[in-house]
Amino acid sequence: MDDATHTEPGAILERVFGFSEFRGRQAEIVDTIVGGDDAFVLMPTGGGKSLCYQIPALARTGVGVVVSPLIALMNDQVSALATLGVRAEALHSGLDSARRTEIESAMLAGTIDLVYIAPERLMSQRMLALIADAPIALFAIDEAHCVSQWGHDFRPEYRRLAELADRFPAAPRIALTATADPTTRDEIVERLRLANAPLYIHSFDRPNITYRVNERGNARAQLLSFIRDEHLGEAGIVYCLSRRKAEETADWLAGRGVDALAYHAGLSAEVRRTNQQRFLREDGVVICATIAFGMGIDKPDVRFVAHLDLPASIEAYYQETGRAGRDGYPADAWMVYGLNDVVQRRRMIEQGEAVEARKQIERHKLDAMLAYCEQVSCRRIALLAYFGETRDQPCGNCDTCLSPLATVDATREARMMLSAVYRTGQRYGFGLVIDHLRGAVGDDPRQANFKKESTFGIGTHLSTRRWRAVARYLIAHGYLYADPERSGGLRLAGESRAVLRGERRVELALDRGQQKSGNRKADKPPIELEDEPLWEALRTRRRELADRDDVPAYVVCSDATLAHIARQRPTDIGELVEVPGIGDHKASRYGRAILDVVAGQR
Ligand code: ADP
Ligand code: ZN
Repeated sequence: MDDATHTEPGAILERVFGFSEFRGRQAEIVDTIVGGDDAFVLMPTGGGKSLCYQIPALARTGVGVVVSPLIALMNDQVSALATLGVRAEALHSGLDSARRTEIESAMLAGTIDLVYIAPERLMSQRMLALIADAPIALFAIDEAHCVSQWGHDFRPEYRRLAELADRFPAAPRIALTATADPTTRDEIVERLRLANAPLYIHSFDRPNITYRVNERGNARAQLLSFIRDEHLGEAGIVYCLSRRKAEETADWLAGRGVDALAYHAGLSAEVRRTNQQRFLREDGVVICATIAFGMGIDKPDVRFVAHLDLPASIEAYYQETGRAGRDGYPADAWMVYGLNDVVQRRRMIEQGEAVEARKQIERHKLDAMLAYCEQVSCRRIALLAYFGETRDQPCGNCDTCLSPLATVDATREARMMLSAVYRTGQRYGFGLVIDHLRGAVGDDPRQANFKKESTFGIGTHLSTRRWRAVARYLIAHGYLYADPERSGGLRLAGESRAVLRGERRVELALDRGQQKSGNRKADKPPIELEDEPLWEALRTRRRELADRDDVPAYVVCSDATLAHIARQRPTDIGELVEVPGIGDHKASRYGRAILDVVAGQR
């Protein structure tokens, strides 16, 4: 930015990004960095982290260096910035050396505003020597939780970034992350030497996301009716644990009229690229994916994120579900969960390659995730508490708030099950233990051995399904342990004695079947009936402009921006730049085309 009047942050926000106000603590953060001080920013996905370093990079002299873990992430940011007229580049191995040299010279000459780079490239001898004398506006460390061993996405290369503090004392550093429980947070501060940096915590709440956890039945059928009833024709992500399941689910949904595609690391680069592009560019594609999909996907109009398998931790769950509803309109985080998930996840930890200390961390994280699933009161309160945020009032927008769960006292049944596990020798899995309680003797010859025990047949009052809910509770709360080494054989664990003695009350949610969320009408941006034809025409034109420029439609402008245009019907460029999300560059690039559509509808 060369024009002096542009260097004031508020003016940059308005002229370049087309927004009239900073959000939350963005203004303070920007001021801190512009003033040359460090900052540590915790904001949920979709909270608006990028502006916190992009604006200071434009306001300060020199190039803003942004450390980012993934090439895809870098490229998305660079192309979005290009549509705003900001000079940004990504330096990575995918470029030929001539192109890299060109970008490096631009950094030294100060002719680009932002450069995105991976940590190992930045910390290489060559790069450090190169930029030693370059004008550096700031260092932004994106996805800062990657520096933490406790975090869920550890990358050893991030550790060396601590050296930036000594090597470039004059350049402010800003670390940003969307996932940080208090332990991870402390580790980031220590590892990146940010002890003196103010911590800016934006609330982690995502009020437009409805959280729902359903008891697993026929999971695919549950998913299909969820999509059909509530999200037909809308974009969504379905997370699966395995590649095979991601593919099978996509095929199965596609066979039932849902525009579904698969995405996982086992597909060829070509197929992955095509599927991701279709998801980004078309309106209603559902991606069935492993966790390989997601980082760097900032499509704002994803209307649901569904989990067919239990995530490994609350951080992972929150990051994945955070990809829904970035545009602020209502979106669903939907999950099915059952006893087998628990067993499977435990087995993955125990049989994994990790060292014992790491396994200990993973167990702890899984326990927290299970407790969340078993939650009988407001899920949002529980989620926010996990991130160190207290909230007193139930949110009114999660399944337990929307249809409050009656709970039943299952202390007696919990004791029955624990006794049955004990009396059958702590070696059998759920199936046999539940049969035993229900007085059923199946094909397994071992069952007959325990017919004389006092626990045999004492549980006929509950169905097998309800007994599984009791088992899930006991496992989730650490009273029972399903030993993967002995094919899921159950053992008493933790404080099960206290339950057996009747000192702990056990409350289970009353069976509630499938939950539906509240107000589906609010799903779309609020378009008045009379504005609908214009809205549709604008969407068509947006699609054409996006295809012409080879970018996703939302990069041209968001649904929210289109909705404003349909309502306000600007007649000239002056009125158009008043619309949120339209800055100078977009107005000059797309303004004429948009105004023509508006004029055509008058
Ligand atoms: P994050 O990186 O935290 O996930 P982004 O930086 O991608 O979030 O921002 C999320 C969305 O919010 C983007 O569409 C962005 O344009 C929008 N946004 C950010 N700051 C503002 C603001 N001050 N006013 C309006 N929209 C904003
Ligand atoms: Zn709630």
